[in-house]
Amino acid sequence: MSKIDIEALVEQIIKGSQLNTPSSPEGGEVSASNGSGAGGVFHTVDEAVAAAKEAQKKYFHTSLARRKKVIQAIRDGLAPKVEELAERAYEETGMGNVEDKIVKNRLAVTQTPGVEDLKTEIITGDAGMTLYELCPYGVIGAIAPSTNPTETLICNTIGMLAAGNAVYFSPHPGAKQTSIWLVRLLNKIVKDASGIDHLIATIDEPSIQAAQEMMVHPDINLLVVTGGPGVVRQAMMSGKKVLGAGAGNPPAIVDETAVIEKAAADIVAGAAFDNNILCIAEKNIVVVESIADFLSFQMEKAGAVIINELKTIKKLEELVLTSDGKPNKAYIGKPAAHILQSAGIPFSGNPKLAVVVTTPEHPFAVEEMLMPVVPFIHTPDFDTALEVALELEQGLHHTATMHSQNVTRLNKAARAMKTSIFVKNGPSYAGLGFKGEGSTTFTIATPTGEGTTTARHFARTRRCVLTDGFSIK
Ligand code: NAD
Repeated sequence: MSKIDIEALVEQIIKGSQLNTPSSPEGGEVSASNGSGAGGVFHTVDEAVAAAKEAQKKYFHTSLARRKKVIQAIRDGLAPKVEELAERAYEETGMGNVEDKIVKNRLAVTQTPGVEDLKTEIITGDAGMTLYELCPYGVIGAIAPSTNPTETLICNTIGMLAAGNAVYFSPHPGAKQTSIWLVRLLNKIVKDASGIDHLIATIDEPSIQAAQEMMVHPDINLLVVTGGPGVVRQAMMSGKKVLGAGAGNPPAIVDETAVIEKAAADIVAGAAFDNNILCIAEKNIVVVESIADFLSFQMEKAGAVIINELKTIKKLEELVLTSDGKPNKAYIGKPAAHILQSAGIPFSGNPKLAVVVTTPEHPFAVEEMLMPVVPFIHTPDFDTALEVALELEQGLHHTATMHSQNVTRLNKAARAMKTSIFVKNGPSYAGLGFKGEGSTTFTIATPTGEGTTTARHFARTRRCVLTDGFSIK
């Protein structure tokens, strides 16, 4: 069959599938009551995965030009919706704040790499030519957290579809309404641009059980898991290939050579961003003694409240820690002012961050608190600060930041921390491409080593060999 015949056949198949799946006047914005599968939302995992599998078969045979059109359509379709995405996620989860969520969603829409991320490697020589191409896995099972529910869906969809896959999403039950709404919207945008329905699929009642069912489903070819340590561990037991993006506990080291005013402003901005629910956000400040007072003074100027009286620290502990010293979920992602007020701690203005002067053993330092309550730890010198930072990062190798003008020390810390993201002299979010160079991602796969994931990580490398030809060296 000629190339033209094949393309005509694919067109026919696609048209046929469109006839079988009518959409509402607003396309994918149909309700689940229209039947299982409407808008990409199914009643069962089986149905959703089967539909995504069929969709991917069609998608695989379309051109790269059409894939690019799909990615552009996602960007164009979501750009006017970033405010709504932020508001919906905030309303449903009660974590973070709308203003920062708008920034995060806009980043995901505009700065997630598309098809251009798939770079082909070519070797030519006397024996001919060998290509290494980045090809789709098939259907990817993607698990998303409650802390970045929409950003993860957007980022994963762009990268996974750019690489030629379909995706089944398992959203957090605590963000299900927003996530299902977004799946419908994405599915409609993609269907309109490609003619293919169900490239993005989910179910109408996401749950932990359904996520586990998806993890072992035979037609899921790759798992991409963004969440805490429990879900990453669970996915690794599935026997499938996993990209695991787990928890972090990022330290911010400040030494005596740093530009203190900037370091203070950067740390407050990074640690307060979306009320500290990002996995990359500064969760500890480890400071060299000689500049500790000046740093805390500057942090106050930048919008932090410094808490160093034991009595006041106790009030905060009683509020934000459970009896076994874990973060109290009721305060995860809440504003600093709300936390301080609830703890009965007086403050003036509208502080963005509560900074608690304490020791490296304190639960605020050891636990991933995910709230704008961050410990401030004094150390005698840089080498001790690095040791403490390493201890607090707990070998998660996720993210660390450092403020210093000493290049040798910056290099030493960057090497020693071994983190997927290391930010020098900037807020942590610079590592996500916000006020820092580079693309963005909301899936930082540290336990499995891919780091800041993009389309190429959602593709498998295949080798294609032509003998005796195509070398003109
Ligand atoms: P979470 O672990 O509670 O949930 C994440 C997802 O996993 C949800 O969809 C949830 O339904 C599912 N899940 C949880 N336990 C499961 C199990 N045993 N089996 C199957 N599915 C399960 O996380 P969260 O509270 O929504 O998000 C915060 C956590 O995620 C933090 O630890 C944060 O550091 C981490 N995170 C990591 C990254 C990264 O890129 N590395 C990004 C965002 C969040």
